[in-house]
Amino acid sequence: MKTRVRFAPSPTGSFHVGSAKIALINYLFARKREGDFILRIEDTDKERSVKKYEENILENLSWLGLEYDEGPEKEGKFGPYRQSRRGETYKKYINKLMETEKAYPCFCSREELEKEREKAIEKGEAPKYSGKCRDLTPEERKKRIENGEKFVIRLKVKDEDKIEFEDMIRGKVTFELREIGDFVLAKDEKTPLYNLACAIDDHEMKITHVIRGEDHISNTPKQILIGRSLNFEELKYGHLPLILAPDKSKLSKRHGAVSVSEYREEGFLPESLINFLVLLGWSPGDNREFFTLDKLEREFSMKRCKKSGAVFNEKKLLHINTLHIKSTEIERLTSLCIPYLIRENLLNPRYESDQYPPAMGARGIKTSYESRDGRIFSFELLKKIIDEHKDRMKKLSEITEIADYFFKSIEIDIDLLRWKKMKNDELADSIDKSINILSNIKNWEKEEVEKALLEEANRYDDRGKFLWPLRAALSGKDESAGPFEIAYLLGPKEAIGRLKKAKKILL
Ligand code: GLU
Repeated sequence: MKTRVRFAPSPTGSFHVGSAKIALINYLFARKREGDFILRIEDTDKERSVKKYEENILENLSWLGLEYDEGPEKEGKFGPYRQSRRGETYKKYINKLMETEKAYPCFCSREELEKEREKAIEKGEAPKYSGKCRDLTPEERKKRIENGEKFVIRLKVKDEDKIEFEDMIRGKVTFELREIGDFVLAKDEKTPLYNLACAIDDHEMKITHVIRGEDHISNTPKQILIGRSLNFEELKYGHLPLILAPDKSKLSKRHGAVSVSEYREEGFLPESLINFLVLLGWSPGDNREFFTLDKLEREFSMKRCKKSGAVFNEKKLLHINTLHIKSTEIERLTSLCIPYLIRENLLNPRYESDQYPPAMGARGIKTSYESRDGRIFSFELLKKIIDEHKDRMKKLSEITEIADYFFKSIEIDIDLLRWKKMKNDELADSIDKSINILSNIKNWEKEEVEKALLEEANRYDDRGKFLWPLRAALSGKDESAGPFEIAYLLGPKEAIGRLKKAKKILL
């Protein structure tokens, strides 16, 4: 039988990194077994389901590269894939449960149930429904419904049984049914609650394995009971541990960024998030830590999934992002960095006639850009600048701090220019030499610029006396790319201009 798994988010918030991990594990499980990965939007809760969150989930799943085989916007044989469109199917099964007396209408009022609950709690018992409406006769039920009395639908649960299942991650799991009681399946004959809709859809969509967060484990016996009442085939279950915050509590908003889109905007690459999230839930069995989705599709195995929750370690995420940034093809990396430079107002795109403003993260835009002081940067030049800085970038957004000096006029501080105890006249002399050398370069190529400057540097007993003031005058920073690279990338006019400006403050 073909493996079919599903990722079934409720669109009640932005796509959380914890959900992304669950989607990823499902995706890998399906790919490894050449099965299907299905996306189902669980939007039965009309009040809490919001369209923009659904869009956020779809957009970021696609950004992560977790392509689904069936789902919204990719209808397959078992759609629709939004629960809000599956009302007819649910109605059919609710009727069947009622006709076969596996389920019954319950007329108890909210107040009554609340009282029962309080009593149970007072006695130190787990609250559960008393079963009061279970034994009403068919005539009584009919009469009360005809009288317009409000009701919900409950499943009959046999007290004496227990439910056992073999969890793919946790091993054998047992639930005593006595603790569950006759639970509510539907608000009325057309409106199922989560457990019923989920069990019906898993069956109808021919799901073979349910892999989800362990916060759903108490739903599993209920879904198994529903399945048995409807003669569905039993599924296999796997409950993944949740991602923990450093304080070991469940990772939530109060710990900072939790949604995939926030990480995306901060400048994490999709492959870094994938790599980081997989290591939170799975181990390769050795100490390798660099993985791409492609590689994972081949290597992943459920057996290596971790049983206990892993702590979300932001430092590790940054480290992994650094590795992926380093190995990203420069053309793509440049396209990804440009929007950050634009956002910080360091560059402005100069649109060619019909070119559209580049969106955050759009690829391969080859237009030119203008710095605030009116200098023009071609995509090719930006590629070289980014390449020079990529090893120091922990996230894409950092390009605006690391390489800002290329795109704006800089303020030079006399103390920054000074190498060790150099006197002002020595400094002025060193900078003069740089101006001279750069002014005499005929063929402005990287090798030429480097050769000429290096030749001069080698004449000094301490090369720092030449190279430090040069680098500081060009960058205005105590940390930057190397002096040859900056000089070359700034071009003769700007480089010499900056050196002259530095010279002025020494006079
Ligand atoms: N809709 C549920 C959620 O977002 C998931 C249910 C499931 O995977 O069974 O938590």
